[in-house]
Amino acid sequence: MDKTFFREWITEIARLVDARREELTRLDTAIGDGDHGTNLARGFGAALEALRSADPPTPGEVLVTVGRTLISTVGGASGPLYGTAFRRAGKALGDALEVDLAGLHEALRAGLAGVQQLGGAVEGDKTMVDAFAPAVAALGEAVVAGKAMGDALAAAAQAAEQGSAATVPLRARKGRASYLGERSIGHQDPGSVSTALVFAALHRVGAR
Ligand code: ADP
Ligand code: MG
Ligand code: MG
Repeated sequence: MDKTFFREWITEIARLVDARREELTRLDTAIGDGDHGTNLARGFGAALEALRSADPPTPGEVLVTVGRTLISTVGGASGPLYGTAFRRAGKALGDALEVDLAGLHEALRAGLAGVQQLGGAVEGDKTMVDAFAPAVAALGEAVVAGKAMGDALAAAAQAAEQGSAATVPLRARKGRASYLGERSIGHQDPGSVSTALVFAALHRVGAR
């Protein structure tokens, strides 16, 4: 995977977030403040523009540029969290021109660690971590099993999707939804849905 792959990934995330913007906002209206779709559409739109003007030379710089842009353009909890995830992942890639699956897994693991360090959420708290952690774990297992890239990314995307679906019966313990206490039960966490989109985009680009 080279810098073009990573740019295509971000382009696909932006496309999916845009297509699902209203749904993300609707989910966030139920247990938050109804801005998740707009927040992310603005952030990934700005990230695409930043990539166009900076034309980063490596996969790592692509992700660092995206992370920096998300931090500066997305308000709310998800901006700093996604921004940190992409920045940390980019830094973990170093200045390599090509990244293999094991390298991608390591980078995403670093991104997840950044999210958990910053936000303090663990699996089961009804946040993006509930999609992010199982996706990284599935990718790690696929690397160990020596799976082909398409299969590995499919497994990660599926794990994210399942982790997100599993947030419905949970009671939120982090973020705005936690203010609702019991009333957060029965709703899917918006950030877990957007994280599932991030991994769906990765799978789509990897399957091309
Ligand atoms: P805000 O809630 O500040 O308006 P967004 O609506 O953009 O921000 O994002 C909300 C999402 O952020 C939640 O659905 C949840 O997945 C995620 N989130 C909130 N707080 C945390 C946290 N401490 N750790 C991980 N994810 C979090
Ligand atoms: Mg919100
Ligand atoms: Mg907000």
